[in-house]
Amino acid sequence: MLTVSEALAAITSTVQRGPVVEISLEDALGQVLAESVVSDLDSPPFDKALMDGYAVRAGDLAGRTTFEVIEEVTAGRVPSRSVGTGQATRIMTGAPIPPGADTVVPVEETEFQAGVPDSILGQVMLRNSANCRAGQFVLKQGAAVRRGTQVMAAGRLLRAQEIAALAELGYARVRVIRRPRVAILATGDELVPAAQSPGPGQIRNSNEPMLAAQVQQAGAEPIRLGVARDERQALRERIDAGLQCDFLLLSGGVSAGKLDLVPSELAAAGVRQIFHKIQMKPGKPLWFGILERSTNESPCYVFGLPGNPVSSMVCCELFVRAALRRWQGLEPAVVEPIMAQLTANISLSSNRPTYHPAHFAWTSEGPRVSLIDWVGSSDVCATVDANCTALLRAGDHKWNAGDSLEVFLWP
Ligand code: AMP
Ligand code: MG
Repeated sequence: MLTVSEALAAITSTVQRGPVVEISLEDALGQVLAESVVSDLDSPPFDKALMDGYAVRAGDLAGRTTFEVIEEVTAGRVPSRSVGTGQATRIMTGAPIPPGADTVVPVEETEFQAGVPDSILGQVMLRNSANCRAGQFVLKQGAAVRRGTQVMAAGRLLRAQEIAALAELGYARVRVIRRPRVAILATGDELVPAAQSPGPGQIRNSNEPMLAAQVQQAGAEPIRLGVARDERQALRERIDAGLQCDFLLLSGGVSAGKLDLVPSELAAAGVRQIFHKIQMKPGKPLWFGILERSTNESPCYVFGLPGNPVSSMVCCELFVRAALRRWQGLEPAVVEPIMAQLTANISLSSNRPTYHPAHFAWTSEGPRVSLIDWVGSSDVCATVDANCTALLRAGDHKWNAGDSLEVFLWP
């Protein structure tokens, strides 16, 4: 049986990066950049006013309080006159600084007297020029970004801020790693859909919607294949359909039960097993393999996840997420845990490391983690209070409030 870190190493050395596609910037949220982004312009593209006020020459500020207003420039317009000694141009935030001027005096620091009633021209008095610094409220051309410099490298997750930068830099279309298509297949004779009342011996299928949500949170596109009954023919047909995708996630049927047909049917479909079973709790029965195709076709990576919903959830966050991150080119593929202090004493005895659903919080005293109460790995309702797993090492141990644990955050 592999350890968790051996299993993660096997996954990240098996999965290859996915293909690059070009998409519209509108569709880029949550995708991963596949090109380096270089600025085609200086930002700002011109010396720019950062306040509504008057553009003047800094050299005038020492001796002079009254200036002749020669022009008004609003954002989107360009100045037509240069500012000479004793002159000022009324300027709005975002407008280009006129030649000659280098400093903006905010309108609040001035008093204006129109030359003739309602004219934009006239005289402006500075209330206290001692308050003004040379060069104030002017952002010089290229101060933020110089034309030709790299602003982002490939491998970056595109959030609102990256999308804003791409828009500023003219990337109306952007090259990203194609979203992985992830087929999801629940198995089990006992499963009925959420809309149905379970009959005797039946339960509702919570894994399919859960896994679809998890892969969506990881930036992938879920393809729902419904439920396969615990019968070879039905299972094999759905497996073959799922193998058309980049990933296939099955839930259930991977343990040692009489109707746990998933490993043998995957083998029959040509999927090569990389590992089966890992030293962890919950999630021991996890299965991972690969379907290799012809050289110019990318493989399908297959996970057989445990049927118990919390096991499935924990394995998906730990292992499937690492595989998806590797496919998407996100570094690191395996997200590092953070350390948090326990809020209560606990004791636990287990022959395998336990990834216990827990609640993590940043508090004013630092990061804290509390285990959630659960009755075991079928208790999916308990996970609504969880936002991470906390790692408890194997053996017979007691932990005290204040002890530090490794915590794996969920999205
Ligand atoms: P299995 O690995 O197929 O033996 O399933 C282990 C446990 O998980 C059993 O109690 C199943 O009823 C339950 N289970 C399997 N699949 C699902 C599912 N899609 N939704 C909820 N529970 C499931
Ligand atoms: Mg089953």
